[in-house]
Amino acid sequence: MSVLVFTENWDGKFKKLTYELVSWASEVAKMINGTVTALSIGSVAEGELEKLGNYGAGKVLTVETPALNTLDSQAYAALLSEVVLKEKASVVILSNNNMGKAVAPRLSVRLKAGICSGVSKLPLSTDPFTVYKRAYSGNAFSRVVIKSDIKIVTLAQNSFGIIENPVNVTVEKANVAVDNSLVHTQVKDVEKQSGKILLTDADIVVSGGRGMKSPDNWTPLLELAEALGAATACSRPVSDEGWRPHEEHTGQTGKIISPNLYLAVGISGATQHLAGVSASKYIVAVNTDKDAPIFEAAQYGIVGDAMKILPQLAEAVKHIK
Ligand SMILES: Cc1cc2nc3c(=O)[nH]c(=O)nc-3n(C[C@H](O)[C@H](O)[C@H](O)COP(=O)(O)OP(=O)(O)OC[C@H]3O[C@@H](n4cnc5c(N)ncnc54)[C@H](O)[C@@H]3O)c2cc1C
Repeated sequence: MSVLVFTENWDGKFKKLTYELVSWASEVAKMINGTVTALSIGSVAEGELEKLGNYGAGKVLTVETPALNTLDSQAYAALLSEVVLKEKASVVILSNNNMGKAVAPRLSVRLKAGICSGVSKLPLSTDPFTVYKRAYSGNAFSRVVIKSDIKIVTLAQNSFGIIENPVNVTVEKANVAVDNSLVHTQVKDVEKQSGKILLTDADIVVSGGRGMKSPDNWTPLLELAEALGAATACSRPVSDEGWRPHEEHTGQTGKIISPNLYLAVGISGATQHLAGVSASKYIVAVNTDKDAPIFEAAQYGIVGDAMKILPQLAEAVKHIK
């Protein structure tokens, strides 16, 4: 029995979520006395592939073909289902992000396998296979029993964490045929953002809310983020207003992140926002209202005007550096 991990990479390196998926798989493999196999599609450096052994993957299978350099959910699901059957995997884990959401349901149909999306913990039991997920916008939890022989799970990003569990790892080419007739996605143009840190992978995140008052006021926040080497984020009303791009929106309906440091500037700390950031190691809040709920979630707080505090913080960081 094995747990199969559908890995994701970016610029030749695994995304942080891949290490989290392998960590989850490794703990599940212990529960079912199985092993962990990871499938890597695309070009990833050899040293990177071997790194998965640090988190419990005993085998890494690679598929490198130009036709699959871009996500094509049909082609990926076909390939993945072949690997699942060849490896006799009983559990398949993907991320609950855009890629996982595109591939997992197709895989479920192909394999006639039960699926649960957005799982955030280890299975409560493996017989019956019972997983735990948030329901009703995070206001309730549900226990889902997957009864099929093959179980498919998508893991809520940054909900489980990364656990080191070194094992010997072998890297080999997956012995599967890629059906090029299934590839329908064509990339016509690529606009690459250089130097931008992936929000879900970032160690430090500087985030702005409606207290920033206007899209024109973002310069000091961006300068602080640059000084800290941080990714930028925002609350939902900010992206709804078009002040910042939607991919920066964190929270229940946005990205779920767990950086070491989350700096919340002009953010009130609504439960829907905290649902996406409360796993951060440290939350530091800047807010004019000393009674804002964000101060209850934060370890450190500054009561003050963002427009005055942000330049001072940026200066202080530059000075220390
Ligand atoms: C179903 C549902 C899902 C939702 N999902 C999300 C989600 O995923 N993410 C999310 O963020 N929200 C979400 N929301 C919205 C959420 O309920 C809040 O409305 C939102 O988080 C508030 O955003 P905010 O903190 O930026 O704005 P506000 O609540 O308006 O807070 C602004 C804060 O800025 C402070 N402030 C004002 N001026 C200054 C200044 N000069 N300097 C410093 N501080 C200042 C104020 O004191 C206040 O605390 C959701 C709501 C619903 C109903």
